[in-house]
Amino acid sequence: MQRPCPPAAILSQLPYAPPTYNQPVKTDRAQLRNQTLLFDADDTLWENNIYFERAIAAFISFLDHRVHTDEEVREHLNTCEHATIAKHGYGLKSFHRSLVDCFEQLSDEPPTPEKHARIVSFADSIAEHEMETLPRVAETLADLQQRHRLILVTKGNPEEQTDKLFRSGLAPHFSAVEVLPEKHEAAYRTLTARHACDTAHTWMIGNSPKSDINPALAAGLNAVFIPHDFTWVLEHETIDQPPANQRLIELATFADLLHHF
Ligand SMILES: [Mg+2]
Repeated sequence: MQRPCPPAAILSQLPYAPPTYNQPVKTDRAQLRNQTLLFDADDTLWENNIYFERAIAAFISFLDHRVHTDEEVREHLNTCEHATIAKHGYGLKSFHRSLVDCFEQLSDEPPTPEKHARIVSFADSIAEHEMETLPRVAETLADLQQRHRLILVTKGNPEEQTDKLFRSGLAPHFSAVEVLPEKHEAAYRTLTARHACDTAHTWMIGNSPKSDINPALAAGLNAVFIPHDFTWVLEHETIDQPPANQRLIELATFADLLHHF
């Protein structure tokens, strides 16, 4: 899957000198204390999109379309997902609806009850999956929460997202949790006003250029981009250049946050 922006391009835009090997980590920590760190959840704290990719691969294989290639079916599913999300928001129910829509639109006939049950099972396999936090996330959050205020900022179905947070065991690290219907500039402005965030000392941390990085920069915040190899295609976007006096950092791993905060 294509990365939205090559790391070198982002690094060249950074208004700070990246730490060198002989620069002690403590120096960086001393520079940034008492920040408000807003964390994305899916594919930043825990795996998420890989389960959807597996379900989609199983769906495409099940459909086994006589005319359309696998790539064409996938393209059509993306179109269905765009339409469903616009009408019904994010979440597993919307994903299930998109799979059924895609099946009906690409097949000559509506799904039989047996086929419908099979399609439902692809979406259900995601809900039943065990939570897998990304490497060193729990210990990094535990360290960061000693010096900073941590707020979870995710989008999607509130019940699904809070259930995942509970099952991940990461909830005690956050002083507040926000589940938004969409993460756009206005949503970030409302959220930062509600939590009395000083924008100069607030950072949005996430894997999605479209939902985490670009709208946060537009809302006057700083941002930390931590790419994930399997970021959802609907979240891809070219990363904007940070406005003057705002900072954008790209990190390879979640634990690298401890070099800066
Ligand atoms: Mg994410």
